[in-house]
Amino acid sequence: MLECLAAPGWLACGNEAIAFDPLCGDGTAQAAREAILAAAVITAIMEYPDDPHAMETLLMHYRSMLLASMRRHLRFCAQFYSMGGNSPWWRTQISALATGFEWCSGQLAGLPQPRYELHGLRLVPRMVPA
Ligand SMILES: Cc1cc2nc3c(=O)[nH]c(=O)nc-3n(C[C@H](O)[C@H](O)[C@H](O)COP(=O)(O)OP(=O)(O)OC[C@H]3O[C@@H](n4cnc5c(N)ncnc54)[C@H](O)[C@@H]3O)c2cc1C
Repeated sequence: MLECLAAPGWLACGNEAIAFDPLCGDGTAQAAREAILAAAVITAIMEYPDDPHAMETLLMHYRSMLLASMRRHLRFCAQFYSMGGNSPWWRTQISALATGFEWCSGQLAGLPQPRYELHGLRLVPRMVPA
């Protein structure tokens, strides 16, 4: 996973942003989901061209969603890999997945709750309970 997933002027997407384990069979769907989200983020940024705060919030939303998808992927892989066996190699892989999962959780804990949700191909502000 790239350390920086988005910045003013660009968004990372697909395998270049996050490489999923080919065996999990979710890489293509992930690339398509990211492309939809990236297009919706760009559309929303274009709606507020003179509002740097809106851009910052939208880029943060993009980063959070990618981090969350990486975390979901690592959880899925951990379940999958636990069937691999109990050799030192598999144990090392599972331990690395747990480290990655914790790292993603730590990063997400430092980010605000998602402020947008996808409605079709567009992002709309999320109703946050008072
Ligand atoms: C062996 C293997 C098996 C896999 N099996 C599955 C599976 O069963 N199910 C599944 O869902 N996923 C699977 N995946 C993962 C899936 O292929 C990827 O997650 C998915 O293709 C990522 O899409 P992408 O658009 O990000 O990248 P890519 O599909 O790699 O597309 C990127 C494109 O950009 C082009 N490109 C690169 N650099 C430039 C440049 N500078 N200028 C112009 N063009 C450029 C490349 O030529 C390429 O065509 C597998 C991957 C591998 C390696």
